[in-house]
Amino acid sequence: MHELGICDALLKMVDQIARDEQLEGIQQITVEVGTLSGVVPKYLEDCWEAVVDGTAYLDTKFVVEVLEGKARCLDCGTEFSCGVDDRLLCPHCGGDKLAPISGRDLTLKEIIA
Ligand SMILES: [Zn+2]
Repeated sequence: MHELGICDALLKMVDQIARDEQLEGIQQITVEVGTLSGVVPKYLEDCWEAVVDGTAYLDTKFVVEVLEGKARCLDCGTEFSCGVDDRLLCPHCGGDKLAPISGRDLTLKEIIA
């Protein structure tokens, strides 16, 4: 489970931005997670709670937005959207040789102070 490492890095990033911009008290942070990033939003939320325990960000609202990714089948060329719980198979030919086009990223989208 690499979500813990991600949250740790996110917290450091938020903390750095808060210092740089002299923000007092972060109300909310929003993270955008692509469905092909391999990150499970629920785990991410749980891990955030664990890393902020005992820090100034305990009351910061943590919002995870899921961004639907896209992949292309290498066998038939079909491009399709991939939801969170989808099995990654081509909807056209059932192939599993897929190239991700988008949705592999996890980005810190917004910080509200
Ligand atoms: Zn296909």
